[in-house]
Amino acid sequence: MPPCFNDGCDETHNPQLRSWVEDANGHADFPIQNLPLGLFRPRGAEPQPGIAIGDHILSIHALVDAGLVEGDALVAGRAAGQGPALNSLLALGAPHRRALRAAVSRLLAEGAPQRPELLHKAADCELLLPAHVGDYTDFYAGIHHALNVGRLFRPDHPLLPNYKWVPIGYHGRSSSLRPSGAPVRRPHGQRKLPDEPVPTFGPARHLDFELELGVWIGPGNQLGQPLAMDAAEGSIAGYGLLNDWSARDLQSWEYQPLGPFLAKSFHTTVSPWIITPEALAPFRQPQQPRSAEDPQPLPYLLSESDQRNGALGVALEVLLLTDAMRQSGLAPQRITASHTENLYWTPAQLVAHHASNGCNLCAGDLLGTGTISSAEPAGYGSLLEITAAGREPLALSSGERRRFLEDGDEVTLCARASRDGFVSIGFGPCRAVVTPACREWEPL
Ligand code: MN
Repeated sequence: MPPCFNDGCDETHNPQLRSWVEDANGHADFPIQNLPLGLFRPRGAEPQPGIAIGDHILSIHALVDAGLVEGDALVAGRAAGQGPALNSLLALGAPHRRALRAAVSRLLAEGAPQRPELLHKAADCELLLPAHVGDYTDFYAGIHHALNVGRLFRPDHPLLPNYKWVPIGYHGRSSSLRPSGAPVRRPHGQRKLPDEPVPTFGPARHLDFELELGVWIGPGNQLGQPLAMDAAEGSIAGYGLLNDWSARDLQSWEYQPLGPFLAKSFHTTVSPWIITPEALAPFRQPQQPRSAEDPQPLPYLLSESDQRNGALGVALEVLLLTDAMRQSGLAPQRITASHTENLYWTPAQLVAHHASNGCNLCAGDLLGTGTISSAEPAGYGSLLEITAAGREPLALSSGERRRFLEDGDEVTLCARASRDGFVSIGFGPCRAVVTPACREWEPL
């Protein structure tokens, strides 16, 4: 086994490790080195906790019922079965997650007794949101996104003076979070473009996506008790992908002075598998150094170990498939390739800042990082940036052009972590198709 860049690597990361679940070996997203947590519904049955392995899902219920786990792994397995989602398991924290991971890795490894009765075919199951999300907060930590959007409105000083001091965020809407696959309906709202004298009400005309990482909260903190940086790191239960759908024509009219509201609360798509910090241990990397003129983070946001390996090395992509492309048999077109190294704050800094005023974070809460654009146009994480607010349409393989999203467009976010000497893991898709606005808008 190669030396691990970070602490926390063990036998479960061994690149030689293979599974008796044949389709897991060489699987793009879910080889035996990943083992993400999720909530699935087998056809005609109740939702239950599971672990993705290749094109299959291991039932944690079946694992516990068969008496195949003990100790902390058994505690974790039982917690996963409490309640309608994985909140109780997430609340346990790293030692229990690690014990469950080690036990499942041993059980699924090549050479272990084969137990196909523990598995479901993923294609026969529905994937649900993995947790009941009490609160969802969206940050703005992608510095190139902040610069690009800032330049559209303030060419001379794109970043506001607070940006490099304080992680910017807003409280989002948890009730409209949906798992990958659920269609997103074009919202209605007050739209007013700069050249229009008064707003009108109707379907959004500038519908956009945002490429973001989701951060799932585990143990959290008590009200009034902030989290130090080390504890903030330990409060993260895992990661996913998040598409913060945004109606730009609603947003530009409503956002001042209190920030985003109905332009974003109509729908947020989340990838259903929680990629654990344990699975990502080989793919940690140093936080990008700040330039000499940037301020150092204030002490409550600064930790040596977080700066050394608190960032993630995850490559990100956005694929677009239009109705016309679908009908012509064309493949989805990659319109963005970015990377998590474009985040100005680490996930632990976002968590520590969120709790710094004593706000209690709870198991199953979800944070979005903010749109993760790279410095180059090929890595812009929203159409607002790719098309310069619609001024420079994007050319598609079908001959179509896009300023913003049309009905029938399908947006897929993808993420992949790789490092020499380790088996790559993926996050699974975060995908949704845009459906037409309500034909006749009738207030109820
Ligand atoms: Mn966002």
